[in-house]
Formats: sequence, structure tokens, C-alpha cells
Amino acid sequence: MAEPTFRAPKGTRDILPPESSRRRALIDAFAVRASQAGFGEVMSPIFEDLGVFKRLGESTDVVTKEMFDFFDKGDPPQHLALRPELTASVCRAYAEHRPTPPWKVWYEGPQFRYEQPQAGRYRQFSQVGVETLGSDDPQVDVDTIVLGWRFYQSLGLSQVTLLLNSLGDASCRPAYLDALRSYLEANAENLSPQSQTTLERNPLRVLDSKRAEDQAVIAAAPLMVDFLSDETAEHFAAVRSGLDQVGVPYEISPRLVRGLDYYTRTTFEFAAEALTSAQNAVGGGGRYDGLVEALGGPSTPGIGFALGVDRILLACDAEGVFDTPAAAVKVFVVDVTESNEGLKVCEQLRAAGIGADRAYGGRSMKAQMKVADRSGAPLAAIIGDDELASGEITVRDLRGDSGQHRVSRDQLVATIQRLV
Ligand code: AMP
Repeated sequence: MAEPTFRAPKGTRDILPPESSRRRALIDAFAVRASQAGFGEVMSPIFEDLGVFKRLGESTDVVTKEMFDFFDKGDPPQHLALRPELTASVCRAYAEHRPTPPWKVWYEGPQFRYEQPQAGRYRQFSQVGVETLGSDDPQVDVDTIVLGWRFYQSLGLSQVTLLLNSLGDASCRPAYLDALRSYLEANAENLSPQSQTTLERNPLRVLDSKRAEDQAVIAAAPLMVDFLSDETAEHFAAVRSGLDQVGVPYEISPRLVRGLDYYTRTTFEFAAEALTSAQNAVGGGGRYDGLVEALGGPSTPGIGFALGVDRILLACDAEGVFDTPAAAVKVFVVDVTESNEGLKVCEQLRAAGIGADRAYGGRSMKAQMKVADRSGAPLAAIIGDDELASGEITVRDLRGDSGQHRVSRDQLVATIQRLV
């Protein structure tokens, strides 16, 4: 094949059928679970004022290095950015519309981050997620985490680990950050140059470093769990107890800080053990009790998660679960009569709710049967000159062993319903 003139931009890709129908099935399955748990879908813009995302915190990579930002053609121009995640947009929407709390919403869609592409890391990727705004009850944390856990289970994934931590809140985090900063500064010479820079911006993010040379310092660093106030410790205990109650297993991960600055109290991540560690984060979330206020709304607690669709599908591949759904077309209509019979039969089948397709270009029986085979349809409805003359149709089983039946037009739908 000749070199194409254009390719999809770096870090993006076309999701073609049938892989796209697997992705659609995954999103639909999430939509069903989320709505059954009382979440309504929120559809927000793909781009926002850059300021919305800046509120996520000036020291996060997503904001400082990875933003797809641009100016519109207004006078004066507005500085906009493609969304790198959806929590900020949901909080902006809450501050704008002030719905009655608790506000429970789910979402799906593409996110954009200017990252170095690699396996499982793209510049355009998809997430599904939920957010609950307006309650700091630890039961909300439990419901949120359980929803994510059950979703992975429903796909057939069995090698997912839930990592759990508490990052404290405004009453106890400052003291911890002081202790952490002092410790890291005292040990700065043993940190990588990158982590030394991170330390100046946000000591917490040093704990996120995967660099080998940082690991010894990180291993001995003070832990947030030892600094939790009575209230945040109680909140964390209630979350754990809820998870225990419903049998959702977790690992306490005291160094889990997650990417964005705004998290408080409960944070969690889902790791797919079937994937290599660079891409094994298949989802994550946590509580953010200051974001709505930072966006100009009333002080509102919130918690949610975002799950990476691309990586979940990689994990499904690695575990050999969640196959591509069967083709929607159940019948391929083969018409060699050069009449409108094929068109009419397709109409009849589709009207009865049976997926049907047909070939174009007046091709031979052999050529049409080939297309029928490729379509994935389990049945062919064949119309030749004989059938046309007698008002009948030959139904042929393309996959199983129920052979061939010649039926009248009136019996067609019933015959097919019996066979598929
Ligand atoms: P985050 O908002 O960074 O916590 O991301 C939530 C989830 O989105 C992660 O656990 C990943 O599964 C997925 N994700 C984040 N960044 C990317 C990316 N660049 N490419 C593919 N998936 C991503």
C-alpha cells in the first residue's frame, strides 16, 4: 500500500470496527451500572477556559506541561484548552448551575494530554467516570469505590488491585507537608535532579516518582497516615469498614498521592496486574473538598473517579476477557435477481428488529456469499430467480449446522427468529 498523505496525529488513533463496537459495549455497560446506582449523565464541552483547568493546581504536570491550549478568534481572544480530565468541568458546571446536592453524575468521552506517547499512553484517550458533589459522608466514598470495583468485575477482569490511601485535609495536611518537606530537603542530595525540582513545587509529588534513584529516600519518608487528625482518621476507617462490609478487597498504599493537587482524604487507584507497571493504572479517583470553591462556587465536598477506557481494554486483552460483541447484522441478504427484492427483504427484517445487510454492485452469487461470510452474520437470506418466481427465500446457516430452509416471505421473520 502507498504511504498515506496524512496520518492521525501523534498520540491519537482511529478506532475502527469491530474494535469500536467493543469499546461502545464497554461504555454502555458502564452507563447501565452508573444509572442503576443513581447517577445521571453529564455532557460537558470538550474545551473550557484555561482557567478552569488551572484550578486543578499549578504544580501538576497535567496543567503545567500537558495542556492542549489555544486562543479563539474573539476580541479579545479567550485562552481555551482541550479538557485533560473531566472533574474540573463537572465542578465548573456545578458552580454554574447550582443543582441540588448531592449531585451524582457520570460521564464518558475523550480527554487530551500532551504526553510522550507509548503503549497505553495517548494524547487523546477516553475515560468513563462518576462524580458526587455535595456530601462528605464516607458512605459516598464507599459507594463510589464499589461501583468502580464491580464494573471491572463485570467485564470479567480478575487481576485488578484496589490501592487505597487518605491524604488528610486542611486540618492535618499542612503539618504533614512541613514534615515531608523538611525530610526531603535534608535528603535532597540523594534524590534525582527531577525530584529535586518537583520538591520545590510540591513535595507530595516526589512520592509519585518511579525513578530508581529516588526509591530509598521515598521508602523512609514520613507518611500521611501518621499525621491524620482524629476526624480524617475516623473518615478513613469508615471507608475501609464499608469496603470490608461488602467484601471489596483493598491494599492500603500509604505513598499513593495521585496526579492532581486537589485531592483530600480518600484517594484510590485501580491497578491491572496483567499489564506492565508503566501502564497498569486503569483508573483512579478520590475526594476533593476544595475544587468547586476554587472555581467560584459554594464550598462543596466531592468525590469521584475516572477509569481509562483504552487501558481497561488492554487489560481485558491481557486477561483474555470481554470479547468483541457478536455482529449486529444477523442476516446477510444475497440477491442475484437484479430486482428490488433484496431491498424489500432488508426492509422487512429491519422493521422486525432483525439486523440485516446486503451487497451492492449486482455481483455474482459467489462474490455475494463471500461478503456475507465477511459480515459476521450467522445467516444468509438468498434470493435467486427460482425464489423470486415462487415468492420464497432460501435461508442458509453460515456458521452452525442447521443447513438450508426454503420459506415463504410470510414465514421469513419467524424462521430467522427461531434460528438466531
Ligand atoms: P488520571 O486522571 O490521571 O488519574 O487518569 C485516570 C485514568 O485515565 C488512568 O488510570 C488511566 O487509565 C487513564 N489515563 C490517564 N492518562 C492517560 C493517557 N495519556 N493515555 C491513556 N490513558 C490515560
